[in-house]
Amino acid sequence: MRFGVAPDHPEVKVVQHDFQQTIDDPRCRFFGNVTVGSPALPLSALLSAYHATVLSYGASSARRVEVKGSHLRGVGSARRFVDWYNGHPSAMNDDVEVPGANVVVVGQGNVAIDCARLLIKGKAGMHNTDIADHALSAMASPSWHDVTRVTLIGRRGPVQSAFTTAEFRELAGLEGVKVELREDEMRVGEEDASVREMADSRPKKRKFALMKEIQQQHAASTAPRTIAFRFLLAPVEYLEDADRPGYVGAVRCQKMALVPSPSSPSSTTAVSSGQVEVLQASLVLESIGYLSTPLPGLPFDSVRAVVPSIHGRVLSSPSSPAFIPGLYVSGWLKRGPTGIIGSNIADARETVSSIVEDLRGREHEKHGMDVERVRQASGDGRLVDKEGWTRIDQWERRAGEEQGRGRVKLTSLDQMLRIAGV
Ligand code: NAP
Repeated sequence: MRFGVAPDHPEVKVVQHDFQQTIDDPRCRFFGNVTVGSPALPLSALLSAYHATVLSYGASSARRVEVKGSHLRGVGSARRFVDWYNGHPSAMNDDVEVPGANVVVVGQGNVAIDCARLLIKGKAGMHNTDIADHALSAMASPSWHDVTRVTLIGRRGPVQSAFTTAEFRELAGLEGVKVELREDEMRVGEEDASVREMADSRPKKRKFALMKEIQQQHAASTAPRTIAFRFLLAPVEYLEDADRPGYVGAVRCQKMALVPSPSSPSSTTAVSSGQVEVLQASLVLESIGYLSTPLPGLPFDSVRAVVPSIHGRVLSSPSSPAFIPGLYVSGWLKRGPTGIIGSNIADARETVSSIVEDLRGREHEKHGMDVERVRQASGDGRLVDKEGWTRIDQWERRAGEEQGRGRVKLTSLDQMLRIAGV
């Protein structure tokens, strides 16, 4: 929630009250600044101390496109960009610049939409949010050009786009922004393959209807900034800017065509049509999905990038029917990086039901981990407990109040630990 939800979506962050309620429960102990899977705290130590260990650490890495020119400055992952503007300590020293007015985002999911919205709103639209201070300063610096056009490219058609209707509707309501959808590309949504997909999915049908409505409403717009959706385009090379050696200047794309997917004829896949198109871009963000990473000693399905499990019970390997007793998984690490925050409720319920079933009738012979043992496991001994977290939270909220923002996030781990008093 702290590093994933967009800074201009405070209403989504209300879920933090649920987290607070949980750690306020006297039966709950909170330990922060602890790395599970480190030599000091192997997974096996948790399994011996607790009846149930639930891994729920999400997806901290990102899929990359890997085409020629990926090394150019100005080409990066949306994941890293999100970490940077959301104040993740690992990204606080990233040198992000926007040297021109045109940005291309590869991918058409909600993360791509978040990045596009933030770039098009600029500092003026983000100053009263909890965006990281370093991002606000960068947006005000001379190396941050005013973004007037963000193009989100998708390799399939409008019906197959991955963003949700609410996120698209929000873009269409931004002041001074035109949402551009090309008529020829929108027509792909009316072809057989897409019509079949919509017949199986009311949300897709509703989203496509809204896209058509917005296309017409915005067609004659003369708004100064544009968010353009381009379909049936896949990047094949990032091209160097002739005026700025070492920097990206454009994206060469191949035009795609939709065909039924060989594995599932009711869905579609994209194949090259042989034509190419070049889009100008001084910043390219690849937003093609997140990836979970394994922990030492943890079974991992590297094809799907998830921990293999059945109903939340972790399997000893992707091909084995045997479970690891006491080990469970939930969230993106269990099902892959899909769904909105609410999707995790059903997911967590399933895992918790498995735990309750497994624990029924068991002797309570495990007593959890002694706090001193956890402190040793935190490496430098700087363990953050609930009181420490409360001090960080209060500091951030107070700093936020002074600036008319929800919170000012601490982005330096060292500063956080000092304020936590450890
Ligand atoms: P996503 O929803 O899976 O979208 C990934 C996009 O990348 C799709 O358009 C996909 O197209 C495209 N793509 C994948 N591989 C590609 C490739 N090799 N070349 C070109 N395009 C490729 O992922 P996401 O945007 O990272 O979002 C992750 C999850 O977080 C989603 O469930 C999202 O809803 C959620 N989220 C929600 C919110 C919110 O509720 N406001 C905000 C942010 C994130 P294909 O379909 O053709 O593969």
